[in-house]
Amino acid sequence: MEKQTEHTACSIQEIFGEDVFDDRAMQRRLPKDAYRELKKSIEEGAELAPKTAEIVAHEMKEWAMERGATHFTHWFQPLTGVTAEKHDAFLSAPLPDGSVLMTLSGKELIRGEPDASSFPSGGLRATFEARGYTIWDCTSPAFIRHDEGGATLCIPTAFCSYTGEALDQKTPLLRSMEAIDREAVRLLRLFGNTASRHVVPYVGAEQEYFIIDREKYLKRMDLVFAGRTLFGSAPPKGQELDDHYFGTLRPRIASYMKEVNEELWRLGVPVKTQHNEAAPAQHELAPIYEKVNVAVDHNQIIMQTLKRVATRHGLRCLLHEKPFDGVNGSGKHNNWSLITDDGINLLDPGTTPHENIQFLLVLTCILKAVDIHADLLRESAADVGNDLRLGGNEAPPAIISVFLGEQLEDVLEQLISTGRALKTSDGGKLLTGVSTLTDISKDGTDRNRTSPFAFTGNKFEFRMVGSRDSIATPNVVLNTIVAEAFREASEELEAAGSGNFDEAVHDLIKRYAKEHIRIVFNGNGYSESWVTEAKRRGLPNYPSMVDAIETLTTDKAVKLFSDAGVFSKKELISRMEVKYETYSKDMNIEARTMLELTTKQFLPAIMQGIRRMADSANAAEAAGADVSVQKELLARLTALMKEAYESKNRLEEVTYSAEKHPAGRQQAIMFRDQVVPAMQALRAPIDAAEMIVDKDLWPVPSYADLMFEV
Ligand code: ADP
Ligand code: MG
Repeated sequence: MEKQTEHTACSIQEIFGEDVFDDRAMQRRLPKDAYRELKKSIEEGAELAPKTAEIVAHEMKEWAMERGATHFTHWFQPLTGVTAEKHDAFLSAPLPDGSVLMTLSGKELIRGEPDASSFPSGGLRATFEARGYTIWDCTSPAFIRHDEGGATLCIPTAFCSYTGEALDQKTPLLRSMEAIDREAVRLLRLFGNTASRHVVPYVGAEQEYFIIDREKYLKRMDLVFAGRTLFGSAPPKGQELDDHYFGTLRPRIASYMKEVNEELWRLGVPVKTQHNEAAPAQHELAPIYEKVNVAVDHNQIIMQTLKRVATRHGLRCLLHEKPFDGVNGSGKHNNWSLITDDGINLLDPGTTPHENIQFLLVLTCILKAVDIHADLLRESAADVGNDLRLGGNEAPPAIISVFLGEQLEDVLEQLISTGRALKTSDGGKLLTGVSTLTDISKDGTDRNRTSPFAFTGNKFEFRMVGSRDSIATPNVVLNTIVAEAFREASEELEAAGSGNFDEAVHDLIKRYAKEHIRIVFNGNGYSESWVTEAKRRGLPNYPSMVDAIETLTTDKAVKLFSDAGVFSKKELISRMEVKYETYSKDMNIEARTMLELTTKQFLPAIMQGIRRMADSANAAEAAGADVSVQKELLARLTALMKEAYESKNRLEEVTYSAEKHPAGRQQAIMFRDQVVPAMQALRAPIDAAEMIVDKDLWPVPSYADLMFEV
């Protein structure tokens, strides 16, 4: 046993990053000059000279081929929510003697031109100018993916239109990183920091998911097409005993997780923590935090690996936000902080009064940003599946608020009420006037699990994000809104002049705290009373994705994003279009799946059930027995069948009319207001019938089969 542990410990170090063209590989492979230039390009964003690009491409290809790769792909994240790739072999045109060379040119490395017309662009790319370009993001390392198709060199890229508009998740993310870098450094300079050169958002995203048996999964058309169960009555046992959370891993799951970990380590993804989650068959995997653009890529790799490895183990990984009614859904906790290139975390309260003041300004800037742009933050977590989760009594509500913990809230209250919370000491240094913040410990802040946006000691944890969604969008919003708040703070402080800096900071912190304290809420975010209280405070509440999408194109949003250089108005409109369309398409798939399941599987099963009951009643009656129970059940099942049939017809009607409506907001509203209720009306009688019809007649695995027999 001991020996085995030792072996595992050493092999993590050995395998970690072996499939990544990381700094080690670059140093080993590249001539010194080329390495230096590439490094500069990675760190400073300088453009790579064509000659250097050739060298890098060649070495990257050699490295990849040694590791078994035959193909390369530009790996990008279009607005479909998943990653896209198009594979090319490292193959040149055959030479006159019939042989071929294996090549990857600098041009192929840096720029690709996928046939982009079939990716969503929200009208940005009319088909006559369908070209889209993928452009190498050298800040996120290339990696090799091994799968049934062999080994492929994946080159992370951004995806833009011919005219430079962003068609993906990556481009705005990189732009938002530049915005926050610029504004955070500017703010640091005002505090006398001349050493830090860059500020980078760091993110650790905890990923929740469900694992079920693959055979059973394949028997459920709703899981296959919609990623969630559209029917199914609750099992006798749910999660009420809390016996799954942090429970021992079952052997099948443990061996699955082992392989997931090893694959991810090879790909340089620092996954660290894994455990069972609250619902049966639900689990979580968390990596160590990284620079946000790498974290975004790694989260995609994590989701893909969870799925791929599951198949190999005869399992299926469900990333949907709400695969099962009645038990917890899945989310993604986006832990976010701002760290300088010399290691200072701006969200760390620090130990000296000076650090405390800087922290309080950063903190109140974030409060301001979140308060002013709560709508956008909410929108950033909107996806179709998340509508079923947010506002349920297990996930954060759809209302944005900030949890600070008692100590910090107390500090803010004092700042606001005493008016002398910040005063100058004899040495001319600022004191907070309240107990110093040294004891703002993680333990003191990390207790509230019901807040959508919680301060957890030295980072904020945004818990609204859906489990399937890319974490790019929420981080684009976070980076941009905080950059704006920093910029406005710097403008005021610069205007005040350095002689009045201390006073000016003091006033600013106090004012921000006062103006934005309404966004702070330390109570139970799941409670009904919070909804009322939030309304009283004037905080926005967007219960559904369709409500939230509009916030993308308000004047406020357009100004925010265009001032920061993150999105143009045109790009925002295109994203809005894509989202409405995604919503409608997804709901349409769900509705059609329900119709088909009902017609082809459930109604026939119910009819068989009725027949079996009728046969039994007839036989019993002929034998002279009392058949009142049979008759009662028969009547009940017949009534449910009728209800199901009528609901199916109604669903058909509203789905077809919504389908025909031109794409856009109005169509999405039709799906939400007409189709979704009709879906619920159909589900109810079918689920009730499931409880009456013999198990062997029911055509699909039940909730209990799916959740408790993995
Ligand atoms: P939990 O939320 O379960 O208590 P932790 O707080 O330890 O767990 O970490 C959750 C996630 O937050 C991990 O992915 C971790 O790497 C990440 N994290 C920790 N510190 C930071 C930070 N300063 N910035 C961003 N993410 C962080
Ligand atoms: Mg957490």
